[in-house]
Amino acid sequence: MLIVQKYGGTSLGDEGRLLRAARRITALARQGTGVVAVVSAQGNTTDEMIARAARVNPRGALSEMDAYLAAGEQMSAALLAMTIGALGWSAVSMTGWQAGIHTDSSFGFARITHVDPEPVRKELEKGNIVVVAGFQGISEEGRITTLGRGGSDTTAVALAAALEADRCQIYTDVDGIYDRDPRRYPDATRFGRIGYERMLSMARSGAQVLHDRCVEMAWEKGIKLEVLSALEDGPGTIVG
Ligand code: ADP
Ligand code: ASP
Ligand code: MG
Repeated sequence: MLIVQKYGGTSLGDEGRLLRAARRITALARQGTGVVAVVSAQGNTTDEMIARAARVNPRGALSEMDAYLAAGEQMSAALLAMTIGALGWSAVSMTGWQAGIHTDSSFGFARITHVDPEPVRKELEKGNIVVVAGFQGISEEGRITTLGRGGSDTTAVALAAALEADRCQIYTDVDGIYDRDPRRYPDATRFGRIGYERMLSMARSGAQVLHDRCVEMAWEKGIKLEVLSALEDGPGTIVG
């Protein structure tokens, strides 16, 4: 059994939340399940980095922006791996390029062209939990790229497809997909299940809960997504 789980920025925002994710991951490992955790940068890290870069050069090279922003996810991957280590399990973190995520050269909104699953597979075979920095890859020219805001969701689906994972779970700060943004509309209702087509049109019209390319790829590859709360237990929403 192999599960790919993705944790968003809020879900890893402080030590308590890192621990909560690490406990969930190690509980699966204890049952003999292979786990690949794809992570976003913690909290508002990406927004803060964008603001800092703009103070240095408001028109900085997009390739340098990508090299910079990718570090946010790398920090959170290593931090989660260390949190898992503190629970007595062996975990390795990997950057997008180490994890075989290849993209085109459209800096700032690169598309994944292919995924080489071998580096992650090798670590899983050694019995390691693998934590992959989301949102990033490497171009044909060997430059670091990023996949567009919210792109870690897409990394998770791409890895789930390449590794032929049994499940792909997206852990976030709401307990599933609603008909409207539940933070803005308290009377929004949660779907138990939603089809790809409806989910894609919601993602394209700005529902940031799932990256639109993540939904496109899940649909194309027939990957069922489970959208779940990282902060409380509950049934969530099945997409697909
Ligand atoms: P993560 O950091 O986990 O990737 P995001 O902030 O990208 O999380 O996405 C989760 C947010 O998406 C929620 O906090 C919610 O406000 C927003 N959202 C917008 N539309 C919807 C919707 N239809 N259903 C659920 N959440 C939605
Ligand atoms: N950290 C990136 C962002 O804030 C990617 C992600 O969260 O998925 O857009
Ligand atoms: Mg997101």
